[in-house]
Formats: sequence, structure tokens, C-alpha cells
Amino acid sequence: MAGLIMNHHEEFMAEAMAMAEEALAAGEVPVGCVFVRDRNIIARARNRTNQLRNATRHAELEAIDEILADPVLTPPGSSNAYPLSDTTLYVTVEPCIMCASALRQMGIKEVFYGCANDRFGGCEGVIGVNEAVQHPSHPPYKATGGMLREAAILILRRFYVTENTNAPVPKSKANRVLKTEISPP
Ligand SMILES: [Zn+2]
Repeated sequence: MAGLIMNHHEEFMAEAMAMAEEALAAGEVPVGCVFVRDRNIIARARNRTNQLRNATRHAELEAIDEILADPVLTPPGSSNAYPLSDTTLYVTVEPCIMCASALRQMGIKEVFYGCANDRFGGCEGVIGVNEAVQHPSHPPYKATGGMLREAAILILRRFYVTENTNAPVPKSKANRVLKTEISPP
């Protein structure tokens, strides 16, 4: 990013990308996120599904657990039904349907993401859990994709090219060549 002037949205997304890099280094699907309140990062997290052998341990839910468990960020006994109503999420990949729903139930203010999630996207990628789907009590939220999109796609490719190299019998995937060209959204 040297030499590039980034706006604050891109700076936060770059921080989310750093968490995705951490996930990649740990052998996880490289997805990272930061939660921002009053222009400050209050939580950063990354995917931990392999480490914890728990398919719900997506970056977003890891961070939400951290925020809710912190008595400064979420004062005990506070009656706010929507604890994330003044919090914005930056995540490298469009939140999946599970996370998009959790974010809505927590009343997230807004979401920015990098690349679309064509298989499980919950912010219009597959289904618009964020605002298109009607819900009697949980308010909709705006989700905007495309921020640092190419970097988000490339890091996923780096993961899928190298995964299985540690397996006893490497699968042919391990020999794949990293594709670097990216088609438009
Ligand atoms: Zn998710």
C-alpha cells in the first residue's frame, strides 16, 4: 500500500486484511475483520474454524463474542437490545448468511466488505439477510462491497492453491498455479 493515499474506510479494511493474512498463516480460510466505533478499532478477529474445529467460528462471530464479553465495550446490565448500533464492520469477504443474520440481530450500524461470497453471501451475494429480507424486529443495515476486493480475492486464492500441501497424500490442488487476473464484479 506504500505511496497510496487511503481514506479511512480503506485503512480499516487494510487492518481487516492483516487479520486475513494472520488466518492464512495459521492455515485457516483467510477472512479477517475489524469492528470500528467512533473511528477506533474496538475488535479485530479472523477465521478460526479449523483451530477450534467449529464451523461457526467465523471472524465476525469471534469479534462479536469479544465485544460482548468486554465490560467497557458492552457495559453489564446495559439495556441496549442492539449492542452494535454504533459500530461498523469491515470484513474482507461478504458476511455469510449466518453472520449476516447475527449482525442484524445485534443491530450493526453498517458493513463494508471486500469481495462477494458467491456461495454463502448473506448481504445480497446469495440472499439479502442484511436488508432485503423482512424481519419484524431487527433493523436492516447497509452493506457495501468492493473495498480492497482484489486483495481479498487474491488471498483466498493463495489459500486454495496451497491447501492440502501438508496432507499425507497431496491432492492435485496443491499443484495449481496461482491465478492473478481478476474479472470485474
Ligand atoms: Zn460467516
